[in-house]
Amino acid sequence: DDAVLWLLGDQLNPDLDALADADEVLLIEAHGFADRKPYHAHKLTLVFSAMRHFRDDLRERGHDVTYAKADSFGEGLDEFLGPRSAADLRLMRPASHGAGERLRELVAARGGSLELLDNELFWTTPADWREWTDEPDGEGSGPDAEREPIVAEDGTAERRYRQEDWYRHVRRETGVLMDGDEPVGGEWNYDDLNQETPPDDWEPPERPRFDPDELTRETHAWVRERFDTWGSDSLDVFAWPVTREEARAALDAFVRDRLPSFGRYEDAMVAGEPFLSHSLLSPAINLGLLDPREPVRAVEEAYGERGVEPGAYDPADDAASGGSGATTLDAFSEGDESDAGADDGDDAGGTDPAPVPLNAAEGFIRQVIGWREFTRHVYREAMPELAAANQLDQSRALPPAYWDGDTDMRCLSEAVDHVREYGYAHHIERLMVLSNVALLYGADPADLNEWFHLGFVDAYHWVTTPNVVAMGSFGTDVLSSKPYAASGSYVNRMSDYCTSCPYAVSRTTGEGACPLNALYWDFLAEHEETLRETGRMGLMYSHLDDKDDSELAAIRERAGAVREMAANGEL
Ligand code: FAD
Repeated sequence: DDAVLWLLGDQLNPDLDALADADEVLLIEAHGFADRKPYHAHKLTLVFSAMRHFRDDLRERGHDVTYAKADSFGEGLDEFLGPRSAADLRLMRPASHGAGERLRELVAARGGSLELLDNELFWTTPADWREWTDEPDGEGSGPDAEREPIVAEDGTAERRYRQEDWYRHVRRETGVLMDGDEPVGGEWNYDDLNQETPPDDWEPPERPRFDPDELTRETHAWVRERFDTWGSDSLDVFAWPVTREEARAALDAFVRDRLPSFGRYEDAMVAGEPFLSHSLLSPAINLGLLDPREPVRAVEEAYGERGVEPGAYDPADDAASGGSGATTLDAFSEGDESDAGADDGDDAGGTDPAPVPLNAAEGFIRQVIGWREFTRHVYREAMPELAAANQLDQSRALPPAYWDGDTDMRCLSEAVDHVREYGYAHHIERLMVLSNVALLYGADPADLNEWFHLGFVDAYHWVTTPNVVAMGSFGTDVLSSKPYAASGSYVNRMSDYCTSCPYAVSRTTGEGACPLNALYWDFLAEHEETLRETGRMGLMYSHLDDKDDSELAAIRERAGAVREMAANGEL
């Protein structure tokens, strides 16, 4: 019997071990999901174009590929299995909850069999996680196992996982940035150095661009015609890698140009600058074009070659000398047969890349082996309850500004516009603006989760759900003991938005006061029973306790007015 490997649209890696002994490869381009909801046009173009490029790449490498275009996986399987009497398929376990079992049933119903393999595109396995959580084998893991829900019906967690502990465990197990048993530099975490905002004259490194080729253009034209989409549907700003070569080039560009300033400005927000020094690699990693080990190893290696002490390199010094633009993309454009990223030939090369301070390397690595692997396992453990978790009982529909970007609140309009334009916003905009506003406003976490899922080019259920429902909306305390809630002063500290915002960040009540301020105190007052108890909010509650009745009444009145304006699209 032929060994058939079925690969999903987020498993697009030609170097998988699973491919080595596959006689045949099956790819099903299923369209039905995009008929049901308005996804960002760039997201659909990205996923479908990457799948089509992958098909061609595999064929060039000599694989026998069946590429079925269908409404659903079931239809695609009909097409593939129909002419055969039987087939044994193998599939890397899908990241999405329950999908492995659903697909196994679909195959079985058509007379075939489906074997589920470990998903190579995550660094750590369910067994690694189990070992860390100390759960006996089989318990609380794997869809077949008997398990008590981790998240109870009221949203409270029966068990809480700590990212920082997991992160240290994975560092030890993998040896990444380790000096024997000790973390390189002596500390596990240099986040205190990663909270600066850049000076006005600092210019972020240029975003690597991968100009859409013929196949991407064709795919995009079809997406526009075939689906109702959301967000920008012009390809002018579409610059995501769609092939493995481009993804590798994007990684090289990040390590060379952006990594030096990644750490220091990681939490900053700057008007008109959606990308700053972020890696922009999540779309490629989540499609499988990059294996998560690659960016981690590349950053570790760069630290080995160009590393300096934590904080020892200041990108602002380069800004003053006009030097930061000097690191260019031609490191990868030369000798690369695709014209990946070779879009800006005029930045002369030749300048050595800037040093990599330890806080940048460590900060990046923590995002990938800490947060990314962590959220994946928390999702596995806490689904299906996680998706519906809503311990604060928040039920408002998202304000229309999330869809049309039409609001005077500068922070919100910037962040929503980034999503509408690029299908991307960086982490702090996602957490401290887009989630924070929804959290304080009282939006239903599941609604917000869907909004993220539709609008972001890197969004998949396994990654949005823990990030949006647990971290952003505090629908459950499974991964943090307190909500990421903040008033306008946080946004003011971390961005330049408030200076050009018509709302006054210095004021809490009355017309024209920053909406986040009243919403913040009102949120604390509203959810006092749940939040004061956490013990982590003591300081904030002591400030709330200091407010007298009339002040509190004014706050609550302003919060009510803000909510009404938001609901009516008048914020
Ligand atoms: P960088 O800042 O350069 O980070 C490097 C890499 O670390 C990312 O590429 C990503 O692979 C990983 N990473 C960092 N933080 C996380 C995290 N919390 N969870 C998982 N991976 C992480 N990430 C997604 O990949 N898809 C999503 O749909 C998504 N939705 C999010 C929604 C909310 C409300 C929040 C708070 C976070 C979300 N994240 C999501 C995590 C994170 O914001 C993005 O991974 C990151 O902004 C992607 O941009 P980047 O590649 O430039 O990231």
